Amino acid sequence: MAEETLFSKIIRKEIPADIVYEDGIVTAFRDISAQAPTHILIIPNKVIPTVNDVTQEDEAVLGRLFTVAAKIAKDEGISESGYRLIINCNKDGGQEVSHFHMHILGGRPLGRMLAK
Ligand code: AMP
Repeated sequence: MAEETLFSKIIRKEIPADIVYEDGIVTAFRDISAQAPTHILIIPNKVIPTVNDVTQEDEAVLGRLFTVAAKIAKDEGISESGYRLIINCNKDGGQEVSHFHMHILGGRPLGRMLAK
């Protein structure tokens, strides 16, 4: 079984987080170091360390991440203005927490996709 991170503790409510959505498959909470007016992380409740560890069995979970992202964007009032979904993988991707997570960022113009 994959090793747990602090995100599993957030799912189990063993450490505090501003949870905006949860169900049996995914949990979403505000990023502790927000980079935009809306910055929320959506994570599978199951530990999937990185995109490299995704299997066919996870396809329903991954689909749920997107339907929840769309719901959160609507709830946050950024559906029409726009937003960005980011999934980092490993060192060069800038992944700090080894529990698959999708960032949803919006509420201001986000500029170019990558810094030069
Ligand atoms: P990444 O760099 O893609 O792995 O993103 C990890 C994100 O987790 C960063 O944006 C952190 O600010 C965020 N983060 C780390 N610890 C916490 C926490 N306890 N509660 C909420 N967000 C966190």
